[in-house]
Amino acid sequence: MSNIITEQNIAARASVLKPERDKHVRNRHPWVFMGAVAHYPEFENGDLLPVVTSFGDFVGYGYFHKGQSIVGRMISFTATDPKQVIVEHIKDAIALRHQFMSTDTTAYRLINGEGDSLPGLIVDLYGDVLVLQINTLGIEKLKPLILETLQIALSPRGIYEKSKTPTRRKEGLDDFEGWLVEPSGETVQDTLLITENGLKFSVSLNDSQKTGMFLDQRGMRALVGRYSKSRTVLNCFSYTGGFSVYALAGGAKRADSVDLYAQAIAGARTNVKLNGFSEEANGFYAEDVFTFLAQKQLPQEYDFIILDPPAFAKRASDIPNASRGYREINRLAMEKLPKGGLLLTSSCSAHVDRALFQTLVFQAAKDAKRNVRILSYHILGADHPVSLYYPEGDYLKSLLLYIN
Ligand code: SAH
Repeated sequence: MSNIITEQNIAARASVLKPERDKHVRNRHPWVFMGAVAHYPEFENGDLLPVVTSFGDFVGYGYFHKGQSIVGRMISFTATDPKQVIVEHIKDAIALRHQFMSTDTTAYRLINGEGDSLPGLIVDLYGDVLVLQINTLGIEKLKPLILETLQIALSPRGIYEKSKTPTRRKEGLDDFEGWLVEPSGETVQDTLLITENGLKFSVSLNDSQKTGMFLDQRGMRALVGRYSKSRTVLNCFSYTGGFSVYALAGGAKRADSVDLYAQAIAGARTNVKLNGFSEEANGFYAEDVFTFLAQKQLPQEYDFIILDPPAFAKRASDIPNASRGYREINRLAMEKLPKGGLLLTSSCSAHVDRALFQTLVFQAAKDAKRNVRILSYHILGADHPVSLYYPEGDYLKSLLLYIN
């Protein structure tokens, strides 16, 4: 009897899904689209609500924001108090990293949004400082609970927030950046020193992209290290020189970095020096990669080129232009490589899936008239888990290619 009353109470406070549109949420996909909801209870945007089917069957809890095309984001598929579940998700995410991340890597993703059942929340660890990126109003409202849980679990020296994303603006949130928990008893420094696979990196908090580093490429950086011996490497879209440092540590003759942004190139110089390599013996170019690669003669004869561009397709409607961009830079790089050259090519556009990306690289190979073999696919880190219920979280694709 009491169960029935509880269920009725829940149903009265619940978002009700349309019968013909509830399948993917029942299949535990975390996104509830506007068109899938038949009825809302009274609520304020960002509130956690129970979700039920049209038959009143309980599905789970999510936070909702009316007027958004993704109107709800599910955080659990159990009837347990959702705030308790959020605490469990955070602890579970931390336990996973503690189990699988090695101690010579002090910067990694601690909470990977949907991949850790916490849509809208990214938390990266840089040594003993946490950097949060909050993408939705629902997570913004849960911030006190999230901060408290992180503090109890990890006692970080400081917590910084760096929330500047287009999703956030759609949610009616302004950009925000600054300390939430300031390191005490010392001058607060903007620059942090971390290690990744034993290599040293300087990370700027406010003068940087994303949360400071592109942590999702760690596996491929390590792979580049293993393939770089005696090679002359060109690191295109280098950011702060991650791939260049690994190449040099792996025995490359030389590693040149190209990035459009002067601060990124300054960071690349810093990181190369920090690891004991010469600033003079390696090239640093604050230039556009398309222009750089289109030069008749490149500054060196490179036999290993890395292409890790920003997402060319931010929206589905960008796919045709993005496709042309990927095909073009891959062709340019292949044309420049000698027989036996290596090309690492990546795409972080969620809208360009694995199959399309490989097709574009195939077209580039055909345009460049080269014989091309795949040596490796992208290597995912344990700090970037992908939920089987949310395959869209697997946005980053890479191919390591042998060019003849
Ligand atoms: N490989 C890097 C991450 C690259 S992110 C790492 O491992 O850390 C993509 C980079 O491309 C950013 O640093 C951005 O500044 C740069 N970028 C964007 N458009 C560019 C262009 N047209 N030419 C050169 N660099 C560009």
